Amino acid sequence: MIWDLHAHLAGVGTQGSGNQLSPRFRRSFAFRHFLRRLGLTPQIVDAPDCDAQIAHLIVAQINASSLDRVVLLAFDAAYHEDGTRDGDRTLMVTDNDFVADLAAANSKVCFGASIHPARPDALPELERLIAKGACLVKWLPGAQNIQPDHPRCFPFYEMLAKHRVPLLSHTGPEHTLKAFPDSLNDPQRLVPALELGVTVIAAHCGANLYLHETSHFAAWQRLALRHPNLYGDLSAFGVITRIWRLRSLHQSPQLMAKCVHGSDFPVTPLPLSCLGAIGLGAALRVRRIGNPFDQSLELMRSAGLPADAFTRAEQLLRIPEGKLLPAVAPAILS
Ligand SMILES: [Zn+2]
Repeated sequence: MIWDLHAHLAGVGTQGSGNQLSPRFRRSFAFRHFLRRLGLTPQIVDAPDCDAQIAHLIVAQINASSLDRVVLLAFDAAYHEDGTRDGDRTLMVTDNDFVADLAAANSKVCFGASIHPARPDALPELERLIAKGACLVKWLPGAQNIQPDHPRCFPFYEMLAKHRVPLLSHTGPEHTLKAFPDSLNDPQRLVPALELGVTVIAAHCGANLYLHETSHFAAWQRLALRHPNLYGDLSAFGVITRIWRLRSLHQSPQLMAKCVHGSDFPVTPLPLSCLGAIGLGAALRVRRIGNPFDQSLELMRSAGLPADAFTRAEQLLRIPEGKLLPAVAPAILS
């Protein structure tokens, strides 16, 4: 099955969901872009059924795509070190139950949970969400104020390892949901999780987006060679500053075997900026693809990402039994 393990969802909290967007983030280019990718205008946030409309449109795009499974990611709030919620610096919350319910109702959608490890209820919440079908836990340390190498996280890691739930943690500089220092997104900080037996997927393999930024790609490479349980996703790689990094991955079968496909929806790939890594014909073809999930998939295929990078998620994630079956049962011929 073809997997995309990194896709975002946002909502404003209609119909009793716990979704939230700060006023600043509502006005941001990133949120407007997200709505535009779904064919919506900013006025949708005033609709009484805004979140349901957004969810309906994302699921429709996923169902229309050639992907077999897409992990939609919940997103927990930022927390202070004392475990209280940091409302002032929370830009976005995507409610775990909102995403879990979507996944339960749609066979192609899988549930990526998000739990801040400083929450006083972090461990029972993790168990509750595993029971609701969580196939991974997503963190963005620089948005949520998580210090992954702090001993406070260790019991959380022990529980992730016990239940074989992988941690998808953002690595490298962050742009869209930046509220805390980027140093929190250093992949080196994930070593305690690796040593406690957690399967860790470093989102973006630590790569930077802009040339002036610090890149943790080399650090990710070193760590991935040292730790058998460290992987990396190539989400949002469809842009000139990241796509050329595939060259070093192509030269190292060991590292390529650590790569997993993700789109980072609603991020839009820029195929014409990837010329050299892909041909002009492929770039023009990918540019015309209307479905955002297919567009990311085809760009990475054109760049020569091997077939198993699109199926590897199946070995890494904690997949509820029902999600391992084909989306539509084959007809039985008598
Ligand atoms: Zn992302």
